[in-house]
Amino acid sequence: MEAVEVFTSEGKGRGLKATKEFFAGDVIFAERAYAAVVFDSLTHLVCHTCFKRQAKLHRCGQCKFAYYCDRTCQRDAWANHKSECSAIKKHGKAPNENIRLAARIMWRIEREGGGLTEGCLVSIDDLQNHVESFGEEEKKELRLDVESFLEFWPSESQHLGMQCISHIFGVINCNGFTLSDQRGLQAVGVGIFPNLCLINHDCWPNCTVIFNNGNHEAVRSMFHTQMRIELRALGKISPGNELSVSYIDFLNVSEERKRQLKKQYYFDCTCEHCQKGIKDDLLLAAKEGEEKPSPEAVKEAIQFSKDTLEKIDKARSEGVYHEVVKLCRECLKKQEAALGETNIYLLRILSIVSEVLSYLQFFEEAAGYAKRMVDAYMKLYHPNNAQLGMALMRAGVTHWHAGLIEAGHGMICKAYAVLLVTHGPTHPITKDLEAMRIQSEMELRMFQQNEFMYYKMREAALQNQTIQVMPEPTNEVAPGIFQRKQ
Ligand SMILES: [Zn+2]
Ligand SMILES: [Zn+2]
Ligand SMILES: [Zn+2]
Repeated sequence: MEAVEVFTSEGKGRGLKATKEFFAGDVIFAERAYAAVVFDSLTHLVCHTCFKRQAKLHRCGQCKFAYYCDRTCQRDAWANHKSECSAIKKHGKAPNENIRLAARIMWRIEREGGGLTEGCLVSIDDLQNHVESFGEEEKKELRLDVESFLEFWPSESQHLGMQCISHIFGVINCNGFTLSDQRGLQAVGVGIFPNLCLINHDCWPNCTVIFNNGNHEAVRSMFHTQMRIELRALGKISPGNELSVSYIDFLNVSEERKRQLKKQYYFDCTCEHCQKGIKDDLLLAAKEGEEKPSPEAVKEAIQFSKDTLEKIDKARSEGVYHEVVKLCRECLKKQEAALGETNIYLLRILSIVSEVLSYLQFFEEAAGYAKRMVDAYMKLYHPNNAQLGMALMRAGVTHWHAGLIEAGHGMICKAYAVLLVTHGPTHPITKDLEAMRIQSEMELRMFQQNEFMYYKMREAALQNQTIQVMPEPTNEVAPGIFQRKQ
């Protein structure tokens, strides 16, 4: 943590600034979780130490609740699991994720004291909880959480005051960071990273935060790494510059982003992009060209899109994918008469329809939509945005499956360049992408020289699955980086 320092940022309270120079892709700091838990629905599918999704996990013989990859992960977990393990046995069952996380934090404070722990710039006691800004509904939830917590908290552990317990739940509520599996496909848990909590939001930030599950297999070697987050620079940062990350996805008009930030994180965004409404015109673009639509037609298309998105959500959560596709195609027809290619409502439909069609293996139609989507994304997102990189990767894979090798390879290369900055070269997703890049490059060369050999090679590649099949689409909206419920 030598490269950063805490300071008071004008109008924003506490912040973090750089004390040396950084360039795109530099890791400014890495931080292990102060405490972290797996989501209730996944406790038997994800390792409780490294948060990797694994086909085969070993169960803790004591509580029969915790699961681990192997002995290494289990041994690593013991300091944090020991008290939890006996409390679960006593309680008869494990409480929900919120209670488990609060208890883990409390046990750690009990062991180490509430002051600064090694490598932390801020103590848990000093983190913001926003309890005083809670509405009635939130206060009710908080009371229920505290009640369940007290039922679970063992009598032999330290006695805790109400204020202290409320503080911890408040901290979890606004600072819980979402953890994903090793492929970045699914949110699997939540953790508290105190240093990360010090970094203020900007809709156009100079850093990104990425979760790395670590590599536990290489015990006792230099490749052995632990689960952590990394703060990475998106471009050049000079000494004295404030560090910022974006708590939410950029693809919303500034007014909507501000509303979301106020609701979820209790502050008014005063970033340059919000103040000047930068890119709002693109995000709400009307169709260009000779037949300009009337403002009413644009309004109508947007309302139609909103209504359709609701129907799509329902069909998608029920797994009726052909209905999703039908709704999307209808909506696109309406949109194409009135909306511009960077309009967010059009992009939302393109994102859903390309994902669902890929899953249904209609790759060619999916590729067309994916191409339009990433072309627009490149005009909207910061060039090193992780979301952009992931979208380029998915679009590249779809093109590859559609046999559009040249375009596919191009997108995979672009995605790789973004992920080298946002995820770093050793992240599993970047490594996957590198394999895909090499594979598609070879195929492209083959395609240009000898088409027959190219098709032979494709067959082999399809069997080896160097380039993966598409995961089933989920209804999960990309959460903010902090886990707080909407
Ligand atoms: Zn593990
Ligand atoms: Zn146990
Ligand atoms: Zn903003």
